[in-house]
Amino acid sequence: MTEPARRIGILGGGQLGRMLAMAAGKIGLAPAVLDPAGDAPAGQVAPLTAARWDDAEALARFARSVDVVTYEFENIPEAALDAIEAIVPIHPPRRALAVSQDRLVEKDFLSGLGLTTAPYAKVDHEEELSLALATIGTPAILKTRRLGYDGKGQARIMSPGDAEAALAAMAGAPAVLEGFVDFSAEISVIAARGQDGQVAAFDPGENRHEDGILRTTRVPATIPATLAADAVLLAGRILNALDYVGVLGVELFVTPGRLVVNEIAPRVHNSGHWTQAGCLVDQFEQHIRAVAGLPLGDGARHSDVEMENLIGEDVAKVPRLLAEGADLHLYGKAETRPGRKMGHVNRLIRYP
Ligand code: AMP
Repeated sequence: MTEPARRIGILGGGQLGRMLAMAAGKIGLAPAVLDPAGDAPAGQVAPLTAARWDDAEALARFARSVDVVTYEFENIPEAALDAIEAIVPIHPPRRALAVSQDRLVEKDFLSGLGLTTAPYAKVDHEEELSLALATIGTPAILKTRRLGYDGKGQARIMSPGDAEAALAAMAGAPAVLEGFVDFSAEISVIAARGQDGQVAAFDPGENRHEDGILRTTRVPATIPATLAADAVLLAGRILNALDYVGVLGVELFVTPGRLVVNEIAPRVHNSGHWTQAGCLVDQFEQHIRAVAGLPLGDGARHSDVEMENLIGEDVAKVPRLLAEGADLHLYGKAETRPGRKMGHVNRLIRYP
């Protein structure tokens, strides 16, 4: 294996980029961040290059200044990644990005691995939607193939009469129709794969959403041990199939006796923030270790944890949370906006 990387370039300077940079610093590595916004949260903890994704010169300069590049979000323009990859390796691999950027490609990939997804069909226009509804039925969800997050770019079709409005909500964007999964819980597995192929998965966490945004993650998830083991194994299969390097988040629906894969994220994930309080080595350090070519750390869970996101005006709770002594993480965002993730808090679950 080649020498471990020391200078870690991070594309995207939001809270995930910020916590990745801090994790790199913790193990003596030198993080550097690139983000179009001069006030990106990661810029408070690491040197920030403020440049647009189409500024080829700045991208090349950034790439030459680091040993490896990673990213905190999956919608980085292709051309920017091409310019960077011509100079320095990018982890996780481009294929993982291509798969996760497009819901249709993602579902084809997952079902090709023999994993269960919601029934789905490509929808580019009205006729395809009628055909898809004829096979999948209602209720169903129409989702844009690209650029959807936190439940955005989605429209529910409860009965065929909703089809027209749902298609209009896609605003002409290519979409995919998904059958509605009647799940008892939503869980996610955060797993890492090193450059030597070593795989380490964190315990599955149970997620609760409000208004389409993650509110809490609890570990352990209240699922049978066999399903928890299945979740970890399927994450390992995805990692190996992609020849992956870094941390990957896999979101799953729990249905009686089987897991349905909702989506994958080729990066550290909000539902993995609990690892900061529940494990010796958290998801951020695990990711940095992997992309730097270092051995993975010990991700075994030593405590039961609940992570709660602080969204919008939840920041008003900060003085109380500080007094409570919980594990508080704030992202340094100057402006509070409704729906904006401002921080999170990890609490150990202590049983009476
Ligand atoms: P997504 O953006 O695909 O993660 O969807 C956001 C949320 O919508 C998920 O966390 C689920 O709560 C819900 N959802 C998405 N797809 C489905 C589905 N096929 N069946 C039931 N609920 C879904």
